[in-house]
Amino acid sequence: MTRNDLPGKEEKDVRSLNFIEQIITEDIRTGKAGGRVHTRFPPEPNGYLHIGHAKSICLNYGLAEKYNGLYNLRFDDTNPLTEEVEYVESIKEDVRWLGYDWEDRLYYASDYFEILYEWAGKLIKKEKAYVCDLNAAQISEQRGTPTRPGIESPYRNRTIDENLDLFRRMRNGEFRDGQRVLRAKIDMASPNMHMRDPVMYRIIHVAHHRTGHDWCIYPTYDYAHGQSDSIEGITHSICTLEFEVHRPLYEWFIRELDIFPSRQIEFARLNLSYTVMSKRKLLQLVKEGHVNGWDDPRMPTISGLRRRGYTPESIRYFSDRIGVAKRNNVIDVALLEHSVREDLNVKATRVMAVLNPLKVVITNYPAGEPEEVDAVINPEQPELGKRKVPFSREIFIEKDDFMEDPPRKFFRLAPGREVRLKYAYIIKCEKVLKDENGKVAELHCTYDPATRSGMPEANRKVKSTIHWVSAQHAREVEVRLFDRLFLNPDPEEIEEGKDFKSNLNPDSLKIVRGFISSGMEGARPLDKFQFERTGYFCVDTESTSRNMILNRTVTLRDAWTRYEKTNNTKSTRPKTGK
Ligand code: ATP
Ligand code: MG
Repeated sequence: MTRNDLPGKEEKDVRSLNFIEQIITEDIRTGKAGGRVHTRFPPEPNGYLHIGHAKSICLNYGLAEKYNGLYNLRFDDTNPLTEEVEYVESIKEDVRWLGYDWEDRLYYASDYFEILYEWAGKLIKKEKAYVCDLNAAQISEQRGTPTRPGIESPYRNRTIDENLDLFRRMRNGEFRDGQRVLRAKIDMASPNMHMRDPVMYRIIHVAHHRTGHDWCIYPTYDYAHGQSDSIEGITHSICTLEFEVHRPLYEWFIRELDIFPSRQIEFARLNLSYTVMSKRKLLQLVKEGHVNGWDDPRMPTISGLRRRGYTPESIRYFSDRIGVAKRNNVIDVALLEHSVREDLNVKATRVMAVLNPLKVVITNYPAGEPEEVDAVINPEQPELGKRKVPFSREIFIEKDDFMEDPPRKFFRLAPGREVRLKYAYIIKCEKVLKDENGKVAELHCTYDPATRSGMPEANRKVKSTIHWVSAQHAREVEVRLFDRLFLNPDPEEIEEGKDFKSNLNPDSLKIVRGFISSGMEGARPLDKFQFERTGYFCVDTESTSRNMILNRTVTLRDAWTRYEKTNNTKSTRPKTGK
């Protein structure tokens, strides 16, 4: 599927432009920045990317593509305390997997340390920055509150020469961590707290993953971000709402330095129900062993979703479908699940698998004489045709498809009842065998040979059709059934004295041994299948030919479609490509 076939794209074109597209269209019309559009995605390499970042990537890069512009990948690597090469590599892999190619435009804020340092000197010379000897606690104490102005630092009026000298010596490593900082000289009485002489540089004697020991002073986010945008000629710097209050500062630096005027535009970050999204919290889940790593299929990370069986197209479609908002909101995780179902429905090969097996012996079927029946590979892709599936005297069916004493609305197998075996025959339950505990252990059934496809009784009506696997041909596999990681829609809603982890779902992972039938020979990690009637499954990355492991991506029950039906909201059913 090419990007132009992105599900939902057509609907999107006829919808009106979102507010960012309106800004860009206007900028192009007025010839701002020569009508160029250049965006960036600026992750801090201090964790793995999550679905919120995916939204940001799709938005930034999607806009550049839409307006024939360019996009950069830039690591915002200004804090050596939390950043690691492992994260850099995982981020590159995830962006690429989502389907984006930054070509030769991979940058690091650390590439700009020298010019940022020079520019800081320029601000000192303009008397717009000064070295301050207050410690972090004092600075925060003297900053005041939104309603009470701050107190000017006693070091605020140092001479230019003294400031230049101290700043140079900060760089040279003459001072301890936290002993001095460089601050912008703006306005300690500003109603915007971010304008009250914000810190531009702090001393951190820690090696950086790229610049090693070259530096012991590091720029803050506020000082580095806008300037990095400007250096790269970013026209539209799209970020999340919490940076709205930083915008006056972003613009102040650009104005005082008289550099390329990148424009910051904020949108509401993605929040998902039943999901925590902060990297700090995700790191806790990993470190404390609540999940098995960043790419645990229950994690909302891109690597977790990939391992779970999500496709890049489903994530891009989801991102497009939720649009951009100016106010914070929470998106129903059912919409994300719906997005992958829509995509896999078109792509995934159908196979039959039994996850909770009950043995059935077809007593009037000849022993040792298996045959083959035809199964549809994917009804959404009829051109793929059919596949042979072995059928024999002994099969497994799902335990749930049989009830000894069925209630009125149960139409599947029960004593004396008939059911159709998908692609094969109608069988009738003649006898129920029990184990020593009185539990159902095995069924004896008879089949009607005339009900096979192509035979006279092939279309005979029965109330229900179930899936099955030939026992003789079955392959045992490990199946991981995932449920939501958190029990409540808002995992952050907690009782006093507890933290978000008290909301973890203790049953978010259930491992069973199931049986698969034919159609999965040669399956490789990340291959996707639909187990008929059961759900979508993906071969795990740790699956081997000896121990096949399958992850359940989603069940077939679509809570989103049900929601739309009951609420009578119009469904924009995506057109999925192949
Ligand atoms: P988190 O708060 O989850 O730890 P972050 O904002 O610290 O994330 P960054 O690496 O700084 O992570 O983010 C890179 C980009 O992704 C930023 O532009 C940020 O605004 C954007 N982003 C982060 N989280 C979300 C989200 N939930 N929805 C949309 N965009 C997001
Ligand atoms: Mg951040």
